[in-house]
Order: sequence, then C-alpha cells, then structure tokens
Amino acid sequence: MPGPICFYVPSHIIDHIARHAGRLGLDADAARRTAVASAAVREQRRMLAMTSMDALTAARPGQGDRQIFDDHHRFETGGELVRGEGDDPVAAANVNAAYDGLGATREFFREVLGRDSIDDAGMTLLGDVNYGDGYDNAFWDGTRMVFGNGDDQIFQDFTRDVDVCAHELTHGVTQYTAGLVYTDQAGAMNEAFSDIFAACVDQFVQKVDAGEHNWLIGEEVMAAPMYGEAIRSMAHPGTAYDNPVLGKDPQAAHMSEYVPGGDPHLNSGIMNRAFYLSAIDLGSYPAAKIFYAALRNLWPQAQFTDCAYLCAEQARLLSRDGRVSRHAPQTIRAAFREVGIP
Ligand SMILES: [Zn+2]
Repeated sequence: MPGPICFYVPSHIIDHIARHAGRLGLDADAARRTAVASAAVREQRRMLAMTSMDALTAARPGQGDRQIFDDHHRFETGGELVRGEGDDPVAAANVNAAYDGLGATREFFREVLGRDSIDDAGMTLLGDVNYGDGYDNAFWDGTRMVFGNGDDQIFQDFTRDVDVCAHELTHGVTQYTAGLVYTDQAGAMNEAFSDIFAACVDQFVQKVDAGEHNWLIGEEVMAAPMYGEAIRSMAHPGTAYDNPVLGKDPQAAHMSEYVPGGDPHLNSGIMNRAFYLSAIDLGSYPAAKIFYAALRNLWPQAQFTDCAYLCAEQARLLSRDGRVSRHAPQTIRAAFREVGIP
C-alpha cells in the first residue's frame, strides 16, 4: 500500500536553489541533479533486491529490526547491506546516524505512543545512505528511508538531523492509519503530522520538553554557509529562512494565510502551530498522545475542522483516563482557535 513519496526538502525550495544557485556561485548542477533524480524517483519507485546479506544480521520479520544499505552514490536504492539490527557501529558516520535515527523514531513510537514500528506490526525499517551524487534531499518511498549526502554548500548529509528520519517514517505511519490524501487540507495534515512527531522524536533524543525545544525542522542539515537557517519553524511558521539561495519561507501560520490547493508543506504550518501551542501548555508527550489518537481516527479526505474536533474529543477521553491533564480539551480547542480553525 504505497502512499505518496514525500521529499524532505520541498520542491519550492529545490526549485529556488536550481534557479538561483549558478548566479550565486554555488553548484547549480547539484541542485539540477537533485531535481531530475527526484522526478525519476517519483516515476520509478523501484526496489532492488538486497545484495549482500553475508556476515550481517538478517532482519527478523515483525520485530521492527533495522537494516542500513549503502547505495554507493548511485541513484538506485537497496544497495549493499552494511549494518543490521544489533550489529556493531561501522566506520561510516552516516550509516550509524541512520541506524540511530531509525532506532530513536521506533523507540519514541513504542514508548510514548505504544506503536510497534510503522505498521504497528513490527515492520522492518530499511534505510539507505549515500544515495545519488551530492543529492540535496531525503525521502520515504513507501517502503524505505533514503538519505542523500547534500552538496555541503546548502545542505549536508541528511542523516545528521533525526528530524529527517522521524518526519519521513511518520509518513509511513500516516499511510497505515488515516491514509490522508496528499492535497489541500488533508495533505497539509499529512505533512503536519510528520513534523509534529519529528519534533517529538527530536525532543525524545535530546531529553527536553516543549519549553526547551527550538521547534525547528531540519536545522541540523543546513551546511555551514546556511548556519542558523532551518526548513520550517513550528513555533513561528514563515520565519525558518530568508536568504538569496533558499528564498523566503512562505509557510502559512494561520487560516487567513491558507493557500487553496497549495503545496501541503505551505499549509501545514497552520496545524504545526496548533500542535506547538498545545504542547507548550500540556507538554509535548501528552499533546503527542492526543494528536496520535486523532490520527488513528482520521480518514483520507478529512479537513482541519475534523482534526480539531477529534483532538478535543480524544483529549477528553485521555484526560478521563488520567493520561493527560484535566484541562487538555480546553487547551486543544484554544490552540486550534488561535490559528483560525473553529
Ligand atoms: Zn513530508
């Protein structure tokens, strides 16, 4: 049941880089290759068989085991298996980072939300590193998590931020739960849930709560010349970046800025901020429990108001069971109202 391919760096940013990189003295080829390869992936979505299983631990089906593959800089996934579940760290930092990122995401879903891997049935977690040549993106293709190396001028290796892996794997979770379609409000929610649980996994790894977190997505994959910028801000959507290479962050923060038919990455800011406001008041994990319960009850064509209603309803049930605070339903309603969702 493949869902839509979600690329970590949205097309409006990649397109801006491709248009302006050459003029700014950056490697325009890397951006162009990224755009071309992304289009090819969209069309092909092919899966190669695993090639070298020897001496490495094979995945136990249904245990949420990890397998990391090295694509050796080819634009093909499923290259050489280089680390299996429980195997010792290897020399390549990005292999270990991918292994750790998949593990942190799996553990957050298990410990905080009681979910057993992506499909809640211990699905094996496949990760590919060194995909492509200076590839400025990462993606979930419906079956596996694929990381590019970045071009080191704009982006660096995409394994460097646990946001990347958590965001993309959550697309898998959404695919197996609500199945939100990837257009308009449902698409914006699909994107937002990925950012929401990515931020929570980031906090899970850093052992911090809402008030101590930066609420930025992708800040660790920015290369040195882009230091301080990020891909999205959940606290203040529309402020993540503003520079000649990436352009200016166009994300909506309120329903008054909603773009009908717009890219899900633009309109997701509205839901992201609703979650941020909820988490600041309730704590990130209680807020995550509420939004996760809503996600499990949403449906493919759901709208923002459906999500707001379900979140308040699930908050009521969870507070009755003593799992979130007593005022959670009111906090949730106030958060949605503040971003213009009645
Ligand atoms: Zn996404």
